[in-house]
Amino acid sequence: MTDENFLVMEKSIPVPEGAKTRVTTDLDFDLEGKQISYLRIPYSRNTSAWGRLLIPIVQFKNGDGPTMFISGGIHGDEFEGPVVLIKLIQRLKLENVQGRIIIMPAVNLPAHLQSTRLSPIDNVDLNRCFPGSKTGSVTQVLAHYINDFIVPKADYVLDMHSGGTSLDFAPCVVMHQLEDKEIEAKTLAAVRAYGAPFALYLKEGDPDGLLDTAVEKAKKVFLSTELRGGATVTKDAVDIADNGLCNLLNHFGVAKANRSKYTRYKNKTTTTLLRTADESCFITAEDDGLFEPLVNLGDRVKAGQPIGQLHHITTPARRPFLLKANSDGVFICRRVQGRAEAGDCLAVIATEEEWEDL
Ligand SMILES: [Zn+2]
Repeated sequence: MTDENFLVMEKSIPVPEGAKTRVTTDLDFDLEGKQISYLRIPYSRNTSAWGRLLIPIVQFKNGDGPTMFISGGIHGDEFEGPVVLIKLIQRLKLENVQGRIIIMPAVNLPAHLQSTRLSPIDNVDLNRCFPGSKTGSVTQVLAHYINDFIVPKADYVLDMHSGGTSLDFAPCVVMHQLEDKEIEAKTLAAVRAYGAPFALYLKEGDPDGLLDTAVEKAKKVFLSTELRGGATVTKDAVDIADNGLCNLLNHFGVAKANRSKYTRYKNKTTTTLLRTADESCFITAEDDGLFEPLVNLGDRVKAGQPIGQLHHITTPARRPFLLKANSDGVFICRRVQGRAEAGDCLAVIATEEEWEDL
């Protein structure tokens, strides 16, 4: 669907002298109680002079305690986070909160409304433009506000992702290898408390521009998720996400949170710990073709084992290209679409680690 509003490229607009941001909100971060409000970003366009983008933001504040910032939908084609967060907003009782919870259920709302990964307004990936810019396009202005006004308030940040349109993950909670060993230990404890089937312990290969990096630079505890994907919503992913979110709220002592009445998933007592040590874990198409996985998500594979093949339908005499695992590990991610082009990520094999080795 094409909306001419979304085709307007937002040009850089100067910030009034002395102003720290172009974003406004009537949410008072110091106020006790539950507030449901918006971040308002100036968005002038042909059909809306003096128009604003209204990005939902919700705060629960009850007495003294830690602050947790929870975001979903930073990529607009990932729906598991928004589903779980909208349910929490409606279910959580203020008297069960101890401290402050700031929730943005669909951070990149324009992208969410179009089911796209990037913002359709300025074609920017919100999770590749941190720390943002107060004089940039709407997505950069939003990143700047989160970086400068929300992250500093938070002790803990959970950013909920999934594979979006093109990838499908075995459900993982995700953390980074950190230089600050005290924060790494706190993050590791939270990852175990989350209770997902898998935990991914990443050495980020391309950290620039991520919210993750912005939060970690600010010396706050940061967790992310990769919960299925395919630009759809599945019961298993939502249940794991809801269970993990409530576990974290309880673990951090910021709320006594009960799971949704529809959630059936119970904690894994031992989450399988995985690591993507280097580029060889990512299997990339080197030719166009039709991708056939030969294993299922979550399957254990051996080095050299065929995990998929790329067929050449237009040249039936040509043999398929066989894709093999580069190491022993778990098949944790696959391409969703059958057709693939050279350069597409087809699969990820993560190696299994012992918790004690960390
Ligand atoms: Zn994402």
